[in-house]
Amino acid sequence: MNTIKTIAVIGAGQMGRGIAQVAAQSDIEVKLTDIDLTAAVRGKEAIAKGLNRLIAKEKITEVVRDGILEKISPVDGIPSLTGVEFVIEAATENEDLKRKIFVQLDEAVGPDAILASNTSSISITRIASAVSNPERVVGMHFMNPVPIMKLIEVIRGVSTSDDVYQKTLALSADLNKVTVSSMDYAGFIVNRILMPMLNEAALALMEGVATAEDIDTAMKLGTNQPMGPLTLADFIGLDTCLSIMQVLHDDLGDPKYRPCPLLKRLVEAGRLGRKTGQGFHTYG
Ligand code: NAD
Repeated sequence: MNTIKTIAVIGAGQMGRGIAQVAAQSDIEVKLTDIDLTAAVRGKEAIAKGLNRLIAKEKITEVVRDGILEKISPVDGIPSLTGVEFVIEAATENEDLKRKIFVQLDEAVGPDAILASNTSSISITRIASAVSNPERVVGMHFMNPVPIMKLIEVIRGVSTSDDVYQKTLALSADLNKVTVSSMDYAGFIVNRILMPMLNEAALALMEGVATAEDIDTAMKLGTNQPMGPLTLADFIGLDTCLSIMQVLHDDLGDPKYRPCPLLKRLVEAGRLGRKTGQGFHTYG
């Protein structure tokens, strides 16, 4: 029996869609929002497409797909989120944007609703400072792709209450995920260790150490990783990788976190990886 019955997901991009799907699969009602209703509807359509691919591979049936989709309701913005018990924000990795969203959430959802952020790196304590009762704010960092990856990092801000922390662990268990707990330091556990490796791969490419293909093959076969670091960066989104490196650099103040200039250039050129068709590699 699920502890939480209705959640809201803010941001219907690759992470928000995955979170919405996993919650619906676990029999939780989901209200899905983005910058407008059209974007939220587009997010639900992308979930349907992904589920159709699973039907084609005979992994799920049409009945299962329809059951998942009927639990996901695209809604028009944060003011439509009254009555939700738990909000998971998965909008673009930008602190100002997230703070604005949390100010709006503070006004729109009931005072007992838990407000979680799926940020990859930004301080939960700073995000929480945007709301009137910061004890209800927590970090809930899902991994990409959400339906496949088992882990959630749960991050307690300075003010996060024990009750909110325990309910977040309970929701994670209802979603069939394994949790680890991290203190609120930039990048938490996974990205503090992973992102400098991806950034170093970009530096190696920039300095002409090897081609992108050889860097990926070297790390894949030489260190037994499922995909090379440049392919993984493209998969995560180069804008997201750059934002995370900037947060690590600013918050931890160590020059070893300096974002690679090539990563910056590609983001400036709009080459954000898989989601735009071009990043370190080109996609069909
Ligand atoms: P994305 O670019 O695919 O999606 C972001 C979505 O947020 C877009 O649909 C955008 O329209 C929406 N958005 C922007 N402003 C908004 C607003 N004011 N209100 C509502 N929606 C808004 O990015 P993503 O990869 O899904 O990342 C989302 C969050 O998840 C980021 O905080 C990121 O750091 C985190 N995250 C990403 C990964 C990853 O591998 N990509 C993994 C874990 C966590």
